[in-house]
Amino acid sequence: MASIRFLGAAGTVTGSRFLVEAAGRQVLVDVGLFQGMKEYRLRNWAPFPVPPGSIDAVVLTHAHIDHSGALPLLVRGGFRAEAWCTPATADLARIMLPDSARLQEEEARFANDKGYSRHAPEAKPLYEGIDAVAALERLRPLRYGKPREIVPGVTLCFGRAGHILGSGWALLTVAAGSGDPVRVLFSGDLGRYGVPILPDPEPPPEADFLVVESTYGDRSHPPESPAVALEREILAAVARGGTVLIPAFAVGRTQEVLFLIRKLEQEGRIPTLPVFVDSPMATDVTPVYRAHREDHDTEMDALLDRGVEPLSPARLSFTRSVDQSKGINHVHGPCIILSASGMATGGRILHHLERRLPEPSTTVLLVGYQAAGTRGWKLQNGAPTLRMHGKDIPVRARVVTLPGFSAHGDRDEMARWLDGLSQPPKRTFCVHGEPVALAAHAERIAARGWQVHVPAHLETADLG
Ligand SMILES: [Zn+2]
Repeated sequence: MASIRFLGAAGTVTGSRFLVEAAGRQVLVDVGLFQGMKEYRLRNWAPFPVPPGSIDAVVLTHAHIDHSGALPLLVRGGFRAEAWCTPATADLARIMLPDSARLQEEEARFANDKGYSRHAPEAKPLYEGIDAVAALERLRPLRYGKPREIVPGVTLCFGRAGHILGSGWALLTVAAGSGDPVRVLFSGDLGRYGVPILPDPEPPPEADFLVVESTYGDRSHPPESPAVALEREILAAVARGGTVLIPAFAVGRTQEVLFLIRKLEQEGRIPTLPVFVDSPMATDVTPVYRAHREDHDTEMDALLDRGVEPLSPARLSFTRSVDQSKGINHVHGPCIILSASGMATGGRILHHLERRLPEPSTTVLLVGYQAAGTRGWKLQNGAPTLRMHGKDIPVRARVVTLPGFSAHGDRDEMARWLDGLSQPPKRTFCVHGEPVALAAHAERIAARGWQVHVPAHLETADLG
């Protein structure tokens, strides 16, 4: 008898954690942090529902922190087994988990300095750098399409999910007593079809049970291609003689925008402009994106074969030190600055916004999701001023949202992926979505005549 427990990303988008139990073994698929509203973030502090030391293996579908960020916490709690992921996910985790630990430590320090925490002056970080280092020692890379028995009776196989570099769907084949093995397929986060750099999501293998993400279960992406929108806005910005400022996630979005700028330049559709990537994490991640050829689509592959650097516009520079970053303040005339964080909640983008927002010649391009209440969201919604470093900065810049960029497939792209299954699973579980998106996605799947369920937080379901 096998079962699955939904320990996270059930009824919400973050904290992906799914525990498969069979024949006395426990395999945890994803071990993400809860993010966003306090109600969810508090779950990060709750004792893990099973003793971490009793878990026989972890599987990571990709390196995003809402899927991998609680691995250091698990290790701190006594997990000593192996954490399986693709080679690119392992390389990204080596950058992202220590960074996550640094943020946790900063948050605790901030709470103590300001006396914000109930526990001040002794607020503790969720985990520390030393835990992230211990977590990295647990990582075991497994290539796409290479099934492997990760614990006795449980075989894992990854396929490409096209969401970020290294992202995969994961098929677990679980021996369940005397009957046939049970095949449980986890979609992970599914990417879009036809985007730069990454291949399309690979069709799913046959499965008895399916756990599928639902982020955009209720929405379709706009039809205009991001490249066309980017070309139009860069040309308009050049005509205004000003800077293009792009708050962008360091992992994935920055590389996608670099790819498109390089392509537009080489096709002669935009002039070559100075391009600055001002984010230490994006600076570290970009070579990882270039290096993992098993994660590239045919266009990326062909460019590299021809000796073209696909992620390098002609006048690209990466800035690492604070002095280099501040040096960009003295650049006048048209240029493009990509900086994190993607929602302007922190990071170096803030000093660029502070410097450039008061100038009417500046264009701010919003190329990612902007969560309610963030500075990015305020800009998107026409705020006349933006508060940064204790000052209200007037917004005289032009602010444009480019909605075509997304790392997640929309409802039609998810349906296309599901079409790859020739047999309906016995049961499909919709996870990783806000309640409205989950309900809409489940309804569309039910319309196929499939058995579908939206599990609640901590619910257990039989896989038999
Ligand atoms: Zn993700």
